[in-house]
Amino acid sequence: MKQCKSCLARAEAIADICPVCGIDQDKLRKDLTKREKRIRGAARMIRFAAMLHLIGGGICIMILPEVGVQMALAAFAIVNFILAIGLIRYDYRAYKAAVVFYFALGIVNTITVNLFAIPVALLLLYIVGNSNAKAIFERRLPESD
Ligand SMILES: [Zn+2]
Repeated sequence: MKQCKSCLARAEAIADICPVCGIDQDKLRKDLTKREKRIRGAARMIRFAAMLHLIGGGICIMILPEVGVQMALAAFAIVNFILAIGLIRYDYRAYKAAVVFYFALGIVNTITVNLFAIPVALLLLYIVGNSNAKAIFERRLPESD
């Protein structure tokens, strides 16, 4: 299975159009329209968020033997890995789960006054929730604007 040059999704292109991002596979990067560039950027940001989840899940596993709340941490690690896989596939269910997850993360960090994590939660929420990212998750592409 080929990998899309623009969104890096592993999906079979239909008539050279990626089913995920809607971008023509024969198009050079410099020839992309403004909207296609925005979609490409949004896709890369989603993959960046997925990478953060992989790292987050990995850290949870690494510190697992040293903490008292192992069950909670293990569950948190699993959630991170599931989100990472889902986001890499631009899965709509992962999008919905991620929004709920970031929202909860934002609330918890607001209550605990974790000033570092609040902007992280907001950034992640923006990465998956902006209109270009949403268009990818909903496969509403290509679409004119
Ligand atoms: Zn694509």
